[in-house]
Amino acid sequence: MCNIHEKKIVSIIGSGRTGSTLLMLILGSHPDCFALGELSKLYRYYKTGKPLCGICQGTCEFWNQLFDEQELNQLTSVLGNTRLNSLVPLVLEKKIRKIFNQEHIFNPYSTIFSKLNENILIDSSKEVDWVKERYQAQEFTSGKIENYLIHMVRDGRAVMSSKLRITPGLTATEFSHQWAKRIRATNDFFDQFPSERKMVVSYEKFVTQNEEVLQQLCKLLQIDFIPEMAQYWKQDHHLVAGNTGTRSLILKYRNQETNVLLDQVQKRQGNYYENMGLQLKLDLRWKDELSSEQLEIFNRIAGELNKPYEWDKQT
Ligand SMILES: [Zn+2]
Repeated sequence: MCNIHEKKIVSIIGSGRTGSTLLMLILGSHPDCFALGELSKLYRYYKTGKPLCGICQGTCEFWNQLFDEQELNQLTSVLGNTRLNSLVPLVLEKKIRKIFNQEHIFNPYSTIFSKLNENILIDSSKEVDWVKERYQAQEFTSGKIENYLIHMVRDGRAVMSSKLRITPGLTATEFSHQWAKRIRATNDFFDQFPSERKMVVSYEKFVTQNEEVLQQLCKLLQIDFIPEMAQYWKQDHHLVAGNTGTRSLILKYRNQETNVLLDQVQKRQGNYYENMGLQLKLDLRWKDELSSEQLEIFNRIAGELNKPYEWDKQT
């Protein structure tokens, strides 16, 4: 527990549809951790007036009440890699602020830490390029905050089934190429990262051997394993974006069943989440949903790359 680096950022990377929201919520239910959601989306949500918090769905007691307008403006601009001042180019502003020792604006995680008691933030932004950009910040290069990587993986065929289900018009060929590209980029970044601060988490293993995986994760982050953290729906969370199905389970627990989010899930997923309890359940719908033609296309394009992630155990 007595680590010299007190503050840690855990970045969850990988393709979408891998259960990263679930992992983030469970980690975020540990008393030392706070789940941020997909911070990479904060800028877009803020600019377009979308609710920042996927749980509160309106004025959020964290994002809206602990940050004033100017702080949110600066924070979201830095995270969105855009200008803070429309008259000054970003590169120039960075230089000037460095000269005057006013770089705190460009250290967004430090700003967020200043609002919280927790020492570990979980960010499930997933896109490697965005994460790389964040790690250039002085808050990381100075060693003030330690960064940890979790590569969340899942059988690519299950990811395909999930993605096709929610993306009208997407073909198996397009998906397979996109997935392969994403996995290669993620692996390249992950491979170069220090081994003592990273871990691969398989969705299937996480769901079927949850406690074992959580113990490994807690060991990695040097925090005590607390079994109750798995009951993520009992804790308060304020996450940006995230999987709507998983979020709907939290809302269900809170009896907010008339929420718009649930209508959206119903439209996309039928009764899957409706009939699901709050316990973890391995989602193998791909076995019934994908046609042999779709599977053939995936195997031809990405089959080799998917070998380490294949999960063929029966339920
Ligand atoms: Zn909230």
